[in-house]
Amino acid sequence: MEETILIFGHKNPDTDTICSSIVKERLNKKNGYDNSKAVRLGNINKETKYVLNYLGIEAPELIEKIEEGQKVIMVDHNDFGQSVDGIENAKIIGVIDHHCIGNFKTSDPLYYTARPYGCTATILFKDFKEKEIEISKEEALLMASAIISDTLLLKSPTTTKHDVKALEELEKIAGINTKEYGLEMLKAGTDLDDFTEEELINIDAKKFEKNGNEFKIAQVNTVDISDVLKRQEKIEKVMTDEINKNGLNLFVFAITDILNSNSEIIALGSKTNVVEKAFVKKLENNRMFLEGVVSRKKQLLPNIDKNM
Ligand code: MN
Ligand code: MN
Repeated sequence: MEETILIFGHKNPDTDTICSSIVKERLNKKNGYDNSKAVRLGNINKETKYVLNYLGIEAPELIEKIEEGQKVIMVDHNDFGQSVDGIENAKIIGVIDHHCIGNFKTSDPLYYTARPYGCTATILFKDFKEKEIEISKEEALLMASAIISDTLLLKSPTTTKHDVKALEELEKIAGINTKEYGLEMLKAGTDLDDFTEEELINIDAKKFEKNGNEFKIAQVNTVDISDVLKRQEKIEKVMTDEINKNGLNLFVFAITDILNSNSEIIALGSKTNVVEKAFVKKLENNRMFLEGVVSRKKQLLPNIDKNM
């Protein structure tokens, strides 16, 4: 019996992380690696739930940690801080990712595919094409959903021509109208009403470090920013708790309007001046409106990181 290869994306899984893990498992199996298994490192969000329900497929199994020497393939991330507990002692045999590479390190040779595309699923799509492997309807919808999610229906500045082209082809295979399906999917993911404030700031939060400063950027998608801002006071309270508990120097909470492609951010901590420098704008009532800003990876993080 061959050793299992676990395939997973980052903690706080999003639609790309989940769909790409599932598709990578299937691609591996089509290539003869039957011992591949997609797993996840956290709860399925509402947007991803919409996709899985639409297809009637189960979410990958949840894992908390891995054993030393476990064979793994990382998708949609390479940062150990966003990965499974025990990753340092795993045998990483592959990475498929579209994020920057900070301090990734292994002791063994591996397959590493890094492409500056808008989505991991776009890299997988190209892999199918290159290997001339047929894409099933279900796989097409999984990849299309990941692309729609990561690029906000191709409106995010992270979108590349590769994503556009991939989605075009996947739309045909999946037999969906991307705009209609995508809007429903994104809307399903923005229903924030039954989240507590503490959950809100953790739906999609990533931690970073620069020059000894720890900072966190959390993001929620909505179709109505003012609706979320009604809860500003309570949100600030849980953000402050988090800052104190984890010794953060800065906590940025971005509320992103996915229909109009803008964000309003709430920034707290001792380094809020970094945010003001980064966007050449003053915070008012701890808030700042950022026109045309929707991407943490391409807009929020690089600007904040540069000024930290
Ligand atoms: Mn992701
Ligand atoms: Mn992604």
